[in-house]
Amino acid sequence: MSQDAFPDRDRSFALAKRTNELMRDYGPSATPRAYAVWYTYVSGEVPLLNDAVKRMTAEKGHLTEIDVDHLHESYLDGQRRAIDASVVSKTVLAELAAVSEVLDLSLGSTQQYGESLSTLTHDLAQAQLSRARLAEMVASLAAATREVVADNRVLEARIRESRDEVESLREKLEATRTESLTDPLSGLSNRKHFEEMMHTAVAAVRAGGRLSVIVVDIDYFKRFNDQFGHLTGDQVLRLVAVVMRESVQANAHLARFGGEEFGIILPGANRLDAVQIAETIRLSMIGRELVKRSTGESLGKVTVSLGVAEHRSGDTPASLLERADLCMFAAKRGGRNRVVDDASISAPSQAA
Ligand code: GH3
Ligand code: MG
Ligand code: MG
Repeated sequence: MSQDAFPDRDRSFALAKRTNELMRDYGPSATPRAYAVWYTYVSGEVPLLNDAVKRMTAEKGHLTEIDVDHLHESYLDGQRRAIDASVVSKTVLAELAAVSEVLDLSLGSTQQYGESLSTLTHDLAQAQLSRARLAEMVASLAAATREVVADNRVLEARIRESRDEVESLREKLEATRTESLTDPLSGLSNRKHFEEMMHTAVAAVRAGGRLSVIVVDIDYFKRFNDQFGHLTGDQVLRLVAVVMRESVQANAHLARFGGEEFGIILPGANRLDAVQIAETIRLSMIGRELVKRSTGESLGKVTVSLGVAEHRSGDTPASLLERADLCMFAAKRGGRNRVVDDASISAPSQAA
């Protein structure tokens, strides 16, 4: 194959070389995912990824497999989904353009038909028409009618085809949207979706209405991962998601922010309702002795700390979530495995 087919060949090898050096220096290993993250970093094509990599390596001096997974998920998969969505949108637009073209054609032929009818009506009004002329007119009317019927059949078939195509595109678009809003590990909403839902929930609180939020963070999770491995850690993340789901009603919104933090939006719930749900989750977690299925080895118990905040007048999604977060940190400071609510947090002073 001619090397001229790749005008950027030299550059790509230079990028690959630099990628290899960075993987070696900053880790974690030369897996395809790590390669994709570092290659994108070196190419500078996704500046947000570069910022995140710089932040992570400045903090710890290296990247872990989990960091690579997060980077891939947040910056590379997201890009792919955006491309998927744009391809689907373009196809929908092309399909709609084709349908409107067929409709234009059909309108044209219907208009022509109308015109021939009115000419005929006009001719019929002329008093003396020979039999032969009458037969001619009827024949031409029948021909015009056949033409319109045939056109309409084509139009019908084309519309049926388009309807099926648009329906399948709609399903694909819906699946892409759901995928872009879901955390693949837990099946809960991701941070982006959570933020959208917070906005909707806060905007929907009317005077006298209730809304509460819970933030959940796993206790000493780093230690658990270090002791039993990340894959087992991932199972714990799934378990927390299941416990959360079991503890709330259908109108609650559940999300994993990323890492080992979760959020719950409870429309209609006051502080006490939310504290009760938070307690149910906490107790359900300490009620479970974790066992590694493959070996039967006991992994002990995993606890969670929870912060609860109730919506106050003037709250924004950010201020409400921040109060729940503060409460979660207070629960950590208080010894973990507990629920702290925002009853004792006074409203910030209005004077800036
Ligand atoms: P604390 O009780 O103060 O919350 O301690 P912690 O160890 O839970 O908190 P810290 O923030 O120090 O560590 C969070 C850990 O969560 C780091 C990492 O090992 C783990 N973690 C984050 N995301 C994931 C993930 O997707 N999978 C797994 N298995 N572990 C994760
Ligand atoms: Mg945390
Ligand atoms: Mg934690």
